Amino acid sequence: MSGRDRHSLKGASIHRWRLHRHHVALLYPNRHAVGMSNLGFQTVRRLFNQIPEWLCEMAFLPEHPHDPLRSFESGRPLQDFDLLAFSISFENDYLHVPVMLRAAGLPVFSEKRDETHPLVLAGGVACSLNPEPIADFIDVFLLGEVENALGRWAMLFENLQGRRRSSVLREMAVGIDAVYVPSLYEIAYADDGTIGSRTPVSPDIPEKVRTAVLQDVDASPTTSEFPASQGAFADTFLVEIGRGCPHGCRFCSAGFLYRPPRYRSFPVLMDSIRKGGRQGVRVGLLGTAVSDLPDLLPLCLEARREGIVLSFSSLRVDAITDELAAVLAGQGVKTATLAPEAGSERMRRVINKGITEAQIFQAARTLVRAGIANLKLYFMVGLPTETTDDVEAIVEMVRAIKVVFLEESRIHRKIGTISVSLNAFVPKPVTPFQWAPMDAANVLQQKVRIVRKGLGSIANVNLSVEPVRDSVMQGFLSRANRRAGVLIERAARPGAQWNEVVRQSGIKPDVETTRKRDYSEVLPWDFIDSRVKRTFLWREHLRALSEKRTPPCPSTACSVCGACATVIDRTGHDNGTHHS
Ligand code: SF4
Repeated sequence: MSGRDRHSLKGASIHRWRLHRHHVALLYPNRHAVGMSNLGFQTVRRLFNQIPEWLCEMAFLPEHPHDPLRSFESGRPLQDFDLLAFSISFENDYLHVPVMLRAAGLPVFSEKRDETHPLVLAGGVACSLNPEPIADFIDVFLLGEVENALGRWAMLFENLQGRRRSSVLREMAVGIDAVYVPSLYEIAYADDGTIGSRTPVSPDIPEKVRTAVLQDVDASPTTSEFPASQGAFADTFLVEIGRGCPHGCRFCSAGFLYRPPRYRSFPVLMDSIRKGGRQGVRVGLLGTAVSDLPDLLPLCLEARREGIVLSFSSLRVDAITDELAAVLAGQGVKTATLAPEAGSERMRRVINKGITEAQIFQAARTLVRAGIANLKLYFMVGLPTETTDDVEAIVEMVRAIKVVFLEESRIHRKIGTISVSLNAFVPKPVTPFQWAPMDAANVLQQKVRIVRKGLGSIANVNLSVEPVRDSVMQGFLSRANRRAGVLIERAARPGAQWNEVVRQSGIKPDVETTRKRDYSEVLPWDFIDSRVKRTFLWREHLRALSEKRTPPCPSTACSVCGACATVIDRTGHDNGTHHS
């Protein structure tokens, strides 16, 4: 964002403050540049500002924990707002929630706040998967795809103004499907620290909270409000092509949380693309499965005809045809991203990736032959049942891709670069691997060393590795229960050291992260009805262990995982999925 844009953003909101009755501060629990690049955060800001008489301003993690927190636009203290709303995409940002509440001048724990404090709301992907680690800090969560639910929630909030806080929260929990009020549930723990029982405080409070779903994705296009300032999509106008993914990769939380798959139509997407084109920047198509978009090729051709440059998040290797590669190259795409995820066929069967070695090599060949000089490859280590052979297979696959890459590059007399991005696998809620153990840090580091050493002997291959320490923290926070809140709060105090705080807490993150869960265990997020049946996830878990493939969502009516049925049941009409 340019200085001029920032200035206009600020000036506009100072002027508008007095014209609005309700003021919400939208908090991103990380630095300004990270938050401004987040499409979900930008979308929630737009949704709040679309509600009549509501004004939404932003706030970001302060540079120093002692800095008082003020809104970005008008510089107001956060206590001036009626509502503080966190948008949280990544579990590791849970660590910043207490820092921001403290910097805003609020008590961190919700039970210590009263009618003199703004209400604290939270939502976003991380919360929709497992909000429990921050449940003690938040008054109310809104879970799932909130486009429609947010307006209804805001109306209820307005109607409840002046009521006691406890009564407001109770009305919200009873009144709207996707609302979760943590203080309205009592949790008993077994001797081993797992959840023994979870009980609503009264019979009118729902035992399960169903996530909100955006049934008609065309009715709510999701695009950048301002171009991202950093990351892979810097200075790019982002257009989300739809929600969900049909492929069922067993490690992918987005693939299960956002079921059923829904794609936006050609006219709606083209309108969004033109909006980006008018801003004179590149337009990035974003989604869990961009290459599954039925209208991808016509969209690319139309954008090219209108002189708009497109870019893409990763493409599935089985979707790359000569025609698509030629269109990408014609668009000026210099780097294509492929995600084999695992090196061996066996490992790809376990994770249900559904692509063969031959398809990966062919995709690399097709892209480079079309004139796309650079390839970026995503892999993971630490996947369930992984052996040393599977890890070494990553190196062998990159070596074989390099051979293909060189053969095709020579035709163009130009040799680009292969970049390998390596991450540790983190078991996520609402996936078939939610019961799986994560590798310990030392095991992951050993696996990273194997890949690093192997790739070190291949010229022109760059390796980037996400720090194992960050992945292990993510592994802990992703599946932690409410007791982790005390740990998070103490670790957020100025000068606190994580290891020391852990030692004093009696909680053992290393054990929690690496232990196997049984089907009978009550998982902290089991109270969330994400529409995909738990029995389906367990069946997929067992199929993973016996290396069995499960086909993608069919193009005809289906009731396999439960997601389509519940969406149709809730509305009484078709849900805008890909079914025909
Ligand atoms: S019910 Fe069938 S088509 Fe619908 S999301 Fe589940 S597996 Fe896919």
